[in-house]
Amino acid sequence: LRVASRRAVLRPATLRLTSRAALSTWINCRRCLRVGAYRDDAGKPYVLPSVREAERKIVDAKLNKEYAGITGVPEFPPLAAKLAYGPNQDVLDRVAITQTISGTGALRLGAAFFQRFYSGDKKIFIPNPSWANHKAVFSDAGLKVETYRYYNKDTIGLDFEGLIADLKAAPLGSVFLFHACAHNPTGVDPTPEQWKEISKVVKEQNHFAFFDMAYQGFASGDTDRDAFAVRYFVEQGHDIALCQSFAKNMGLYGERVGAFSLTTADADEKKRVESQLKILIRPLYSNPPIHGARIASEVLSNPKLYNQWLGEVKEMADRIITMRALLKENLEKLGSKHDWSHITSQIGMFAYTGLNAEEMEKLAKEYSVYATKDGRISVAGITSSNVGRLAEAIYKVKG
Ligand code: PLP
Repeated sequence: LRVASRRAVLRPATLRLTSRAALSTWINCRRCLRVGAYRDDAGKPYVLPSVREAERKIVDAKLNKEYAGITGVPEFPPLAAKLAYGPNQDVLDRVAITQTISGTGALRLGAAFFQRFYSGDKKIFIPNPSWANHKAVFSDAGLKVETYRYYNKDTIGLDFEGLIADLKAAPLGSVFLFHACAHNPTGVDPTPEQWKEISKVVKEQNHFAFFDMAYQGFASGDTDRDAFAVRYFVEQGHDIALCQSFAKNMGLYGERVGAFSLTTADADEKKRVESQLKILIRPLYSNPPIHGARIASEVLSNPKLYNQWLGEVKEMADRIITMRALLKENLEKLGSKHDWSHITSQIGMFAYTGLNAEEMEKLAKEYSVYATKDGRISVAGITSSNVGRLAEAIYKVKG
């Protein structure tokens, strides 16, 4: 049925594709500017060599397949915490952390924790727009969801004044979700200076910062730089919640590796929080999968593989940055009079082109360029061989 419906929308030119292989390439290509997964310059899914090597070591070790504990493969959570929070042992000693079912599982567990224990309003403010699943995850856990201003469609940039005004207008002690880096879907992040101001206002208003860090390393190519907001908030004395995903930065999408953590006052509170997290996890899914977390642990703890991985993360980020530059350059070469500087100033896997729903529909119908209606394209799906065609299509639609 799915194939039938896909065929039904094939345009005459593409109907000439007759072989199964050609059809499946075309179908994959339709998804490539939509899907939130990295593709190499040939448009193919990419398994990082460091991850392959770590996996080989794990397979060779012939480990058993017993259950992990409730909080996961024991070595994984402390390694994940160190990657996010940095090497400061005083901080690490008071981070309550558990392995989760990737970033979505971390968000869902965090939502359940706040629903059960947060003493203020059982409500979370998310940016407008935000990752499409945030609202569903939080409301399914019983939290009310409201939005704060984030994106300014006139400047195709951050609505910083709106964001600050909404932080100030929310009831004292509200929970705010922040994308730690590489905001999805806009690719628009606050600058370090703006994060400092956000931290100050969050503190003045006694709000709680709940970070979603699904792209550490993927934004700038540097895992420390991408963790700036998280580490700055902790340095400033905030208690924070943090969701981590290893889907993008290790390419472990389907292995479902993530972590949820909360900074606590001291080792004693950390123990109590971890105990409550276990009580929440047990009836949800008992314990998380082991294979991906073993791979991530090997990469993070083996100095040779860790350095190799940092290089590979940078390569992925650099390829995305290069594709942004090429797209902008091609549009300018075609003679477009629009200011496309947002394409290169935005960061991470996605670019908000500024094209409206009508223009996106035209892109799909007339040029077979399929992205999301909100104007978001996955830069990870752009390659050196399709960037020219993409620029031409955008130019023809937008001018
Ligand atoms: N948070 C954001 C902002 C995302 O973009 C994504 C995935 O696209 C996730 C969380 C969750 O990803 P996963 O559950 O695959 O780790």
